[in-house]
Amino acid sequence: MSEHFDVIVIGGGPAGIMSALAAAAEGSRVLILEAKDRIGGKIMVSGNGRCNFSNTAISAGAPDFLSQYHNAEFAASILLRCDSSWLRDLFEHWGMAVVDQDGWLFPATRYAGSVLEVLLRELKRSSVVIKTQCVAADLSCCQDSKIILACGFNECSSSILGNIIDVDAQLPYTEFRPILHPLNTEKSLLEGLDGLRAVCRLNLLRDGKLLFSEIGELMFRNYGISGIVTFNASRYSEKGDIVSLDLTTTWNGLNLTDICERYASQPCNTLFDGLLRRPLGLAILRKAKVAGERSITSLTDSEIKRLESICTDFQLEVQGSDLGNLQPQAQRGGLSFEALDPESLQLKMAPNVYAAGEIIDVDGPCGGYNLHWAWASGWAAGLAAAKSKS
Ligand SMILES: Cc1cc2nc3c(=O)[nH]c(=O)nc-3n(C[C@H](O)[C@H](O)[C@H](O)COP(=O)(O)OP(=O)(O)OC[C@H]3O[C@@H](n4cnc5c(N)ncnc54)[C@H](O)[C@@H]3O)c2cc1C
Repeated sequence: MSEHFDVIVIGGGPAGIMSALAAAAEGSRVLILEAKDRIGGKIMVSGNGRCNFSNTAISAGAPDFLSQYHNAEFAASILLRCDSSWLRDLFEHWGMAVVDQDGWLFPATRYAGSVLEVLLRELKRSSVVIKTQCVAADLSCCQDSKIILACGFNECSSSILGNIIDVDAQLPYTEFRPILHPLNTEKSLLEGLDGLRAVCRLNLLRDGKLLFSEIGELMFRNYGISGIVTFNASRYSEKGDIVSLDLTTTWNGLNLTDICERYASQPCNTLFDGLLRRPLGLAILRKAKVAGERSITSLTDSEIKRLESICTDFQLEVQGSDLGNLQPQAQRGGLSFEALDPESLQLKMAPNVYAAGEIIDVDGPCGGYNLHWAWASGWAAGLAAAKSKS
């Protein structure tokens, strides 16, 4: 490479872009190497094309949010320094209007392209050089420069990490595994439910022990369950775990016993009308082995109790981790926190090298937490790399 760069960023995702901007703001000459034909690919697909880029819960004034992150102790100092107010101010400074939807932050255009557009404009203003279709296979291209590894997780990033790890087998590293994805479950109860949404409480249990519990909108699929509450549960789930759905959280005090009394002469297949979508009601009847044509009055007390119990504890067993075509939104794993200085994200074993974003073993739930980590860690690494330039 003939031209000299103070800082070379490997990977043009949100973490890489942010680290480039932070380093450039400190006066560094910065180069981004990106494997694909353009930078910011995941920004464009994030939040269903709307880019949920952060969450107001990520607030230095209310550090409870930290419990939402995997490896929170490691990430804490950066997240408290670079919280959602800091990020919102930064994006507004770059000319992007922001909208707050129940704490989830989006560009006001509700178009992910707007985030990328303001970042590209700022990169240009900061004279950051971008080389696309350039796969950095190892760090030999980056002699005499500070390097920021911001290559996330994909087929290219694993090769570069592999090379670094080969060079130094001591580097603390955790294998990646997909998180934030739909769950494959047993299918016998799912007949007729594909695409049906329901607000419910999802409890995740292993050997009877509660691992996760959250209320949210779930979508039944022919292979299992999806929706944000399912994605969040997938951070904790393993094959053989039990998903238990409480489908009554929206019933506002209505109960089956009263409905059975009032509509005694009606058929059982109408029992859940007004409480649950009809196909879900029919699935509950099937699970309770109650024929839909029977009249409600024929139900015994124990059958009503059984129906009530299925409504609050609709169980599905999680089957395997083979996702097939189901794309995860994030990966858990990568560089362990023992490998890095928590303030600067400098690799302890390679002082010229910094890391940022998904390549580090930190992740959060849906709601802007993962992009927030990418921006905040990118900023921290970029500043530190620029300040340490020789
Ligand atoms: C469908 C989808 C929707 C999502 N929605 C949201 C959301 O709404 N909110 C949220 O908070 N999070 C969301 N996420 C997660 C979020 O996109 C990631 O957490 C974030 O992109 C991670 O940023 P990163 O820069 O670390 O990695 P990446 O975005 O993966 O960027 C890494 C970049 O490095 C490049 N690269 C890799 N290896 C090399 C190499 N050897 N040489 C050169 N370049 C290389 C890659 O091509 C890529 O461009 C979503 C993810 C997906 C898949």
